[in-house]
Amino acid sequence: MDVTDDLPSASHTIQEFVLGYEEARQLRGFRCPNCGLVTATWGLACPQCGKAELGEAQLSQRGGVSAFSILTGPGDEFINDAPYAYGVVALQGGGRITGWMPTVRSEKDLAIGDAVHFVPGYKPGVQFAKDSEDPNPG
Ligand SMILES: [Zn+2]
Repeated sequence: MDVTDDLPSASHTIQEFVLGYEEARQLRGFRCPNCGLVTATWGLACPQCGKAELGEAQLSQRGGVSAFSILTGPGDEFINDAPYAYGVVALQGGGRITGWMPTVRSEKDLAIGDAVHFVPGYKPGVQFAKDSEDPNPG
């Protein structure tokens, strides 16, 4: 018996999800057909209502900062980038995604609610920049 027979399937794999923001220059997410929740978190069921068949959704690349802190002691992958902001962005149209902002070096450089946009890049993680730094990205 194949143990994968009983597992629900998703419209894309977690690997495609990660490659979406590292290579395909897009933010992938899910939309629940039952309750309408849009989420940036990969999963097999809706975290709000539990429905198992989530549809793929293309997330907005723009949003507002809902939380952040300045990291001065990062992990090895980001050792040459510190200090930088690490935080949560509430995307327009739904989805909250964790990301980092290498151009923000101090708490004075960013505020809750600041408009930001996704910056595709070769570094790991989802990278954002303030709209005020680059108002017409891409
Ligand atoms: Zn739902």
